[in-house]
Amino acid sequence: MAYITLSRSNYFHNLSLLADKCGGVDKLSVVLKDNAYGHGLKEMATLASEFGVTKAVVRDEEEALEIKEQFEDILVLAPRTDTNPTDNSSLVLNSLEQIYKTKPKTKVYLKIDSGMRRNGITADEISDALKLIISKALVLKGVMTHFATSDESGDAFEMEMQRWLEIKNQVKAFLNELNIPQPSFSSLASHGVLRVGNIDDEIVRCGIATYGYNEFDESFKKIALKPVLKLHAKRITSRVVKPTDRVGYGKVGTVAIETIVSSYDIGYGDGFFRYDGKSDFFTPEGDKIVGRISMDITSVASDKDEIVLLDDAKVLADRFSTISYDILVKLSPRIKRVVID
Ligand SMILES: *Cc1c(COP(=O)(O)O)cnc(C)c1O
Repeated sequence: MAYITLSRSNYFHNLSLLADKCGGVDKLSVVLKDNAYGHGLKEMATLASEFGVTKAVVRDEEEALEIKEQFEDILVLAPRTDTNPTDNSSLVLNSLEQIYKTKPKTKVYLKIDSGMRRNGITADEISDALKLIISKALVLKGVMTHFATSDESGDAFEMEMQRWLEIKNQVKAFLNELNIPQPSFSSLASHGVLRVGNIDDEIVRCGIATYGYNEFDESFKKIALKPVLKLHAKRITSRVVKPTDRVGYGKVGTVAIETIVSSYDIGYGDGFFRYDGKSDFFTPEGDKIVGRISMDITSVASDKDEIVLLDDAKVLADRFSTISYDILVKLSPRIKRVVID
């Protein structure tokens, strides 16, 4: 069976780098949503906790339940209303309506729109939202925002950060007036932390950089992150293929000279990218993929018992006009994950 290896030392390298940048491991929360960006929720939660991270961010209550023992605080980004949160979860609330529907005593984070125009209450709803949170007896653990342009060059990001500062001051002033303790504030994700490091927030939320990637363009300084995940596949069969032969669906796979071509047990059914067999495409070890990738099978000009299909998602992302997140998150949860040093 194809399998994934997860490098503990690379993960710890990335976590150290981010903890240093943001002002310490206590400020760092690791984003483990969507099966830890395809890496494996349980495995990454265990590693993060081993490193000393005490906070995690997940998509829903089900993911929070799976890792509740490993963390002190879990932030649930997209709460479902049909499940009870674990005691150590806080739910992100995005609108007055969501605040209104949330049960008393629930721990919450209020999300504020600082310019992304996607989720969160608007700045002029802040006092109404805070009043409603107080009157509904919710526990306000945090106030957060998410920036739209932290990996873009230009000054848009500066403006978003400025907006956040104003929002924070507005929230603080409102709560001070009522003698209510201040919540934690959180705005930066990976690119923000890599870009500005330590700002005056209590918590940062890092996903992609912990896994070893960023999506900055060339204008940014290179950052020494290390990819954590490798995807391996095993040989099913081998055959000698002649230049006159055609390999795979649509018969688009060809070889220039007589070559041993083997089939490996990985395909787009495992969430790997479906290469269409056009123009050259090589594995990270330089073996040529021959013809289209099928649902469960990939043919490669190799006779190795095992091959590596992916060790740097950015290479695949660039090749197929997408981003590293997209390549990683689709890797099927059914592929076995093995933690290595
Ligand atoms: C996914 C997500 C993050 C993490 O983003 P990265 O770019 O992977 O670090 C942080 N905050 C929120 C609200 C998110 O949805």
